[in-house]
Amino acid sequence: MKVDAAYLEVTNRCNLNCATCYNRSGINRETRELKFDDLLACIRRLQSFGCRAFTFSGGEPMLYRELDALLTYMEDNPQLDFSLVTNGTRVTEPILERLKKLHNLKVQVSLDGSCEEENAKTRGEGNFEKAITTLRALQDAGIPCFAAYVISRRNLSDVQLFFERMVEESITPSFSFIMRQGNGSDDWEEKGLTSVEKIKIMGLLHSLTRDGEMPIAIPGCSYACPLAEEGTGLNVLVKNDGSLYPCQSLYDPAYCMGNLLSDSDETLGNGVRYIQELAQKRREADFGCTTCMIRNQCGKGCIAIADSVGGNALADDGECTLRKAFFLRNALGWK
Ligand code: SF4
Ligand code: SF4
Repeated sequence: MKVDAAYLEVTNRCNLNCATCYNRSGINRETRELKFDDLLACIRRLQSFGCRAFTFSGGEPMLYRELDALLTYMEDNPQLDFSLVTNGTRVTEPILERLKKLHNLKVQVSLDGSCEEENAKTRGEGNFEKAITTLRALQDAGIPCFAAYVISRRNLSDVQLFFERMVEESITPSFSFIMRQGNGSDDWEEKGLTSVEKIKIMGLLHSLTRDGEMPIAIPGCSYACPLAEEGTGLNVLVKNDGSLYPCQSLYDPAYCMGNLLSDSDETLGNGVRYIQELAQKRREADFGCTTCMIRNQCGKGCIAIADSVGGNALADDGECTLRKAFFLRNALGWK
């Protein structure tokens, strides 16, 4: 097994309950965390598979009871790359002072609107000012950071204003589409995006970023799943009990590949093989592909989207129209 990067959910606690939260952290009443010694054991195990990039998330990682020990570990390991994914409402002055000392850190702050009113539609009231203050403080401290915006139908009309506001504040924005998972799946009819809405927003972002000239992450469509390629380095997810998943979007226990704290390399290897075989089987399926104009380029999309929209990992992921439109726009230009 080869692991390039790992996303570790150190705690399930969160002080918010966002409408797009993929793991519903905001509703957890009983705290579940990776004890720091277990977190270290997971990191070391992942390092034995080649991993050097670690993202700490949750829940809200600033609420992790052993945050102090985690920050010390990050200070003591400048040879590794670290990221923190935070809602930006609990980054206190003392935490900021610790983060300033790190030269191997990137911070993602979630923000889903250009102002309090827009942000509150997804992230709840009273959080915009806190998050943007955190972003400004991170910027001032010279800590690489960006504002991550999850596009749903609730904030679709605010994308351009958000982009402009971030540019005005000299904060890098990044964009992704809502997934039908966790809180995101509730009221899907009023939050989910159609292919037409997605392609329009991609066009808008291509023009705002001057066709990729600006180093800003903009969403694309699901094309091919890297899990179908043997030997490809994995971007794994580790839950707060040490269980290992092939990617952040394959969250259901059905996709668990084993546990870093208790399973042998052989068991984990079997788990990876099972997922790879599933991805390969999906790649061989026919969703009307034999006559499709992009059949030679298309890898049949994403297992996680297929599972989340229809409960079947081997079925069509519902993104064929989007893929064809995306392919055409890429070939013909986005203008
Ligand atoms: S299942 Fe989807 S999100 Fe996960 S690695 Fe494959 S393409 Fe990416
Ligand atoms: S876009 Fe859909 S129909 Fe066309 S090749 Fe891809 S999966 Fe098959």
